[in-house]
Amino acid sequence: MTAQTHPESSLAANDPTRENTWERRALIDLSAIRENVKRISALVAPAKLMAVVKADAYGHGAIPVARAAIHAGASWIGAAHVTEVLALRTAGITSPALAWLHTADTPFGLAIAENIDIAVSGWELAVVAEAARSAAQPARVHLKIDTGLGRNGCTPEDWAALLGQAAAYQEEGLLRVVGVFSHLAVADEPQRPETDEQLGAFRQAVALAEDAGFDLQVRHLANTPAILSRPDTHFDMVRLGLGLYGLSPFADEAHDSLGLRPAMRLEAKVANVKKVPAAHGVSYGMNYRTNAPTYLGLVPLGYADGIPRVAEGGPVLINGITYRSVGRVAMDQFVVDLGPDIDPGQYMGATAVLFGEGGPNVEEWADASGTINYEVVTRISPRVPRTYVEGTWGESGD
Ligand SMILES: *Cc1c(COP(=O)(O)O)cnc(C)c1O
Repeated sequence: MTAQTHPESSLAANDPTRENTWERRALIDLSAIRENVKRISALVAPAKLMAVVKADAYGHGAIPVARAAIHAGASWIGAAHVTEVLALRTAGITSPALAWLHTADTPFGLAIAENIDIAVSGWELAVVAEAARSAAQPARVHLKIDTGLGRNGCTPEDWAALLGQAAAYQEEGLLRVVGVFSHLAVADEPQRPETDEQLGAFRQAVALAEDAGFDLQVRHLANTPAILSRPDTHFDMVRLGLGLYGLSPFADEAHDSLGLRPAMRLEAKVANVKKVPAAHGVSYGMNYRTNAPTYLGLVPLGYADGIPRVAEGGPVLINGITYRSVGRVAMDQFVVDLGPDIDPGQYMGATAVLFGEGGPNVEEWADASGTINYEVVTRISPRVPRTYVEGTWGESGD
C-alpha cells in the first residue's frame, strides 16, 4: 500500500502520517474514484461525465478527487459554489467547470476570468452580464429550468422571458449560452412518476432554447440515481456525485450490485480498553448500562469528527469482529462493548474500522443515525486527516 498525504490538501498540516503514524484517518482510494469514473463513463457514453466535487468532494478532498476523475476520463467538473471551483483553478485544474448556486456576492468576475461556466436561474443573468462587461470577456452560461424540484431554476412560466433576455445579452457579446440543465427530485425512487414529468418539462425547455437560436453544447439532467436507473435522462452529459465516491443512491441496492467501489474508509486506533462490572453506565446520560461484567473499548472519533451524535448501534470492525457503538456519541469519542471474553492486550491500539472497504458499509452508519450515506461521508470533519492511497488496502499500514 502506498499512503501519502496530498500535498495541496489543506489537511496536510493536520496529518500525522508525516511521522509515519496515525491515530484516526479517512483513507481515500483514488483508484476506486478512477474505476467508478470509468464504469459510469462506459455506461453513459457517448454522453460526457461531469465529476461533482462540491463540499470538498463529499468529504473526500476536492483537489485529489478532481484530478483522479479527470485522469480517468471525466471531462467536466461541477460544484455548487464558484469559490469551490476557484480553489480547483488555483490548484491548476483547467477542465471545463460549472458552478450552480450563487448569491448576490458571488465573485462572478473571477468566475469569468477563470473560465468557469455559470448556472443562471433568473436574477443572476443581469449581474453576470454586468460582470462580463467589466471583465471585457463574455460569460459562459448554462440556463437552469426548474422542472419540479422547487429549488433553483427558472419556472416554465418565466422561461421564454429568460431566453429572450439571454439572447439580448448574447447579441451584445456579454455572454454565451452553452448549456441548459435541470435537477431531478425523486430519481432515487425509480417507480415514482415525477421523473417522467420532469423529463417532459426538460425536453420542452430545451426545445424552446433551441428555437430561440441558442447553439447548446451540453444539455444535462441526470444525477447519480438517474444515471443508474434512467438512460433516457443522460442527454449530452451526466452529473456524477455520489457514484463517483462508489456509493449507492438507492435504499434497496448496494454499491457492489451497481459495479461501484466505495472510496473512503474511516478508521481510528482503539484509545482505551478496560474491564467494568455489570450495570456500569456508558457516556453522557448513561443511556447504556452493561448487562454483565465486560470490556469497554474507546474509539477516539466523535461528533467533532462528523460521527452523528444521534447514532445508535453504529458498527465498528476490530480484530475481525463487528461490534456496536453503545451510549451517546460524544464530541471526541464513543464506546463499544467488547464483551467479557477478549484479550485486552489485543484490543488496545487495534484498528477500529467504522466503514469502508474491508469493514462495515457506510449505509449502516447512515441507518444508525437516521440519515443517508451522502451525509455521513460529507460530514467527516477536517479534524480527520485524509490519506490518499492507490489500490486495494491490506491491513492498515502503521
Ligand atoms: C449535488 C448535485 C449533483 C450530484 O448529485 P448525486 O446524486 O450526488 O449524483 C448533480 N447536480 C446538482 C445540481 C447537484 O446539486
